[in-house]
Amino acid sequence: APGAHLIGLVGAGIGPSLSPALHEREAHELGLRYQYRRLDLLELGVGPDRVGDLLAAARLTGYTGLNVTHPVKQAVIAHLDALSEEAAVLGAVNTVLFKGGKAVGYNTDASGFARSAMGGLAGARLDRVVLLGAGGAGAAVAHALLGIGAGRLTVLDLDADRSARLVDALGAHFGRDRIAAGPAGGLAAALDGADGLVHATPTGMAAHPGTAVPPALLHPGLWVAEVVYFPLETALLAAARAAGCRVLDGGRMAVYQAVDSFRLFTGAEPDADRMLRHFDAL
Ligand code: NAD
Repeated sequence: APGAHLIGLVGAGIGPSLSPALHEREAHELGLRYQYRRLDLLELGVGPDRVGDLLAAARLTGYTGLNVTHPVKQAVIAHLDALSEEAAVLGAVNTVLFKGGKAVGYNTDASGFARSAMGGLAGARLDRVVLLGAGGAGAAVAHALLGIGAGRLTVLDLDADRSARLVDALGAHFGRDRIAAGPAGGLAAALDGADGLVHATPTGMAAHPGTAVPPALLHPGLWVAEVVYFPLETALLAAARAAGCRVLDGGRMAVYQAVDSFRLFTGAEPDADRMLRHFDAL
């Protein structure tokens, strides 16, 4: 689309986010006028309950759209006019587009993980997959995995209500025989005979060091995908490599969700490989 684009990122503590650089560089390469601003709830001193006010302000000021992240991916939904099918099934939105007087919510974390897995895990078995973490990222991953053909997904979360809700929502959409919740302490049993594991808890980030997966449970027949991407090489990925597992880091999911958001915002096709190279250089 011609003209200028103004995009905002709404979330708490988003100072280190690479999204502004990633989006603005790609827009520059494509010759688009494009500004990507942080709207940090912490810096603005407003709580997550004010996300509706921020949305209204952005709409009024002529923003093209918003990316939305922790802790308002769910809360933003009450303030939108329509949702993509994915966002509705997941109950989480990471991209809002203002168009024709309406605010429409999308979830490009799901499409981002799907594209990352189809590239980085091409040919891998998906018959039995274990998902650890049923929060915002985990829900997107679950939708993506079932969408690309995972046979059966077992979801584990310390918060049993969260995994139960996710299993219920995705089971209704994809078939109840394809997704089940496991007990929080049931990781060893779930991984026994599994083809792959996706880790989608915050463990492994600088603020939450360590790994949620005992290394002794990793075996060479298991592929391991990580959603954490800050740092790119987590303790889990290091242990998985050492155990001989095929691995996928969280970086590509992060880049591909930006690719898909950028396309929604501008209508222009970004160069995904160029954005991946830029991400690696950041
Ligand atoms: P969240 O808080 O919404 O969900 C995390 C879930 O993990 C919670 O339900 C929690 O109960 C569960 N959990 C925590 N520790 C656990 C453990 N030891 N065992 C089982 N369950 C456990 O967080 P989120 O928004 O889903 O983010 C999770 C991670 O994903 C963060 O590191 C975030 O940066 C990353 N992320 C990456 C991408 C990407 O594009 N790569 C996108 C979104 C989020």
